Amino acid sequence: MTDRKTELAANLAQVEERIAAACTAAGRKREEVTLIVVTKTYPASDVRLLAELGVRHVAENRDQEAGPKAAECADLPLIWHFVGQLQTNKVRSVSSYADVVQSVDRKRLVDALSDAAVRTAREMGVLIQVALDADSGERGSRGGVGPDGVEALAESVIAAEGLRLDGLMTVAPLAGPYEGRPRAAFDRLAEISSRLRAAHPAANMVSAGMSSDLEEAVAAGATHVRVGTAVLGVRPPLR
Ligand SMILES: *Cc1c(COP(=O)(O)O)cnc(C)c1O
Repeated sequence: MTDRKTELAANLAQVEERIAAACTAAGRKREEVTLIVVTKTYPASDVRLLAELGVRHVAENRDQEAGPKAAECADLPLIWHFVGQLQTNKVRSVSSYADVVQSVDRKRLVDALSDAAVRTAREMGVLIQVALDADSGERGSRGGVGPDGVEALAESVIAAEGLRLDGLMTVAPLAGPYEGRPRAAFDRLAEISSRLRAAHPAANMVSAGMSSDLEEAVAAGATHVRVGTAVLGVRPPLR
């Protein structure tokens, strides 16, 4: 193995151990939690190595970077998640490679994604991003719709051609009442998810938890954790 592959394999093994331990601690089966590796800022060559090491889900947060990377990796058996704040003018591009868009937080985006999905005759999975730091009717500082906006947005996804409502996503807030309390934030997301599932049982994905708080997310019932740094290393600061 190359040095980089050896390094990624060791990091993946460590993350796998953390997820398995968190599942055991929570009395959950390991298969209930899917690892999504967030590959932003890292090259397509790393994505290729990850695929060789058995990773099946990857995520990106900027279309400018993700588009070319996904094209380079089009031969790999990967499921691509888009997890960044998304402008409607990027939707057409994102819809050409994303299997799941996790960061849907407004009706205009639902409409644009639906148009793109219909145009490409490709069904896209959608997660509604919940901002636990947003006041009523507002969007969060890192994207997302406030908890009281989830139901209406879910209805618009259900009604949208070409889209499939898969569930909810959140990022632990850096400010507000949940600052420094990821477990409480993820418990709140789980509550919102159980309300959503009462109306839409298939929308059972709960995407929560990153490198620093994946244990809290698994304890709170997350079905998908999004891990970047712990697998690929510390990212250079964003420009
Ligand atoms: C970058 C990113 C992650 C991964 O964060 P790490 O701390 O590097 O594990 C997860 N979710 C989203 C939405 C991200 O942008």
